[in-house]
Amino acid sequence: CKSQYGKHIGYYDAGTVAKTAQEMQIINEMRQALEEERFVIYLQPKMDITTDQACGAEALVRWQHPERGLIPPGVFIPVFERNGFIATLDYYVWEKICGMLRGWLDMGKEPMPVSVNVSRVSLYNPQLVERLTGLVEKYRIEYRLLQLEITESAYMTNPELMLETIHALRCAGFTILIDDFGSGYSSLNTLKDIEVDILKVDMKFLPVDEEVKKGEIILASVIKMANWLGMSVVVEGVETRMQRDFLIGVGADYVQGYYYSKPIPQKEYEERYVFVEQA
Ligand code: C2E
Ligand code: CA
Ligand code: CA
Ligand code: CA
Repeated sequence: CKSQYGKHIGYYDAGTVAKTAQEMQIINEMRQALEEERFVIYLQPKMDITTDQACGAEALVRWQHPERGLIPPGVFIPVFERNGFIATLDYYVWEKICGMLRGWLDMGKEPMPVSVNVSRVSLYNPQLVERLTGLVEKYRIEYRLLQLEITESAYMTNPELMLETIHALRCAGFTILIDDFGSGYSSLNTLKDIEVDILKVDMKFLPVDEEVKKGEIILASVIKMANWLGMSVVVEGVETRMQRDFLIGVGADYVQGYYYSKPIPQKEYEERYVFVEQA
């Protein structure tokens, strides 16, 4: 598992870009927010569609702001991606999740895997593999418990390096998910080149209204193709009973969405899915 890892990928200098007042405030407050543990992690269960049982979760960060309340990641993550702070926040989230998994193990629970998001900036960080393996070793958890979601769009930045990085991560024992599969311009290329375990497809990428039939055919085909290639599929953004029934019909494996549960605070997730009495 060696690679050309280490060559640097520059993101553009945020200083040359005009910033909005909101962006300035986010940048000014981000470090203190991190120190004061104001970034909180919510968990959204992933369900096995055939059994209706939770089989894991995705970690999703929010900013608990003293004046502005709970800020969704869509507001601050794009800013952090531009100024590079996302690498710090990603690492913080990964470590919190490793700590949480360790906590469950210490309480004698058999934890289900939790996936974390790996931003493009983190993905192309030469220390990524070391940082992740370091955490898993530090918290003494199995590699399979920390799953990594890498967005398909990161592929365009440097396909070769992304393939190598994913290869190195899989060699280490991590499970890799390609997030937002189908949203990019090169999904079929991605599928041809990349060795991953799970594809995540969002219902929102499917056409609506008159185009529904087409979207259904595309989704059904992606699921078949993935299964043929030895990958499983998580369909996210599942909001209705109708969508769920359709997904069962086309052989989807796992689902995530408001139909089952919104992302919820750790405590609530534990009550509902971890500290439940075994039948
Ligand atoms: P994502 O990774 O694609 O996460 C899925 C998003 O879909 C989440 O939004 C989730 O709350 C939302 N979602 C789940 N089920 C449904 C549904 O049924 N309907 C609809 N309409 N939405 C649903 P969220 O939590 O606002 O996160 C937005 C994005 O922010 C994420 O998209 C991810 O790209 C990024 N993000 C969140 N946490 C982190 C993090 O710790 N690190 C990094 N790098 N990015 C993160
Ligand atoms: Ca994700
Ligand atoms: Ca997604
Ligand atoms: Ca299947």
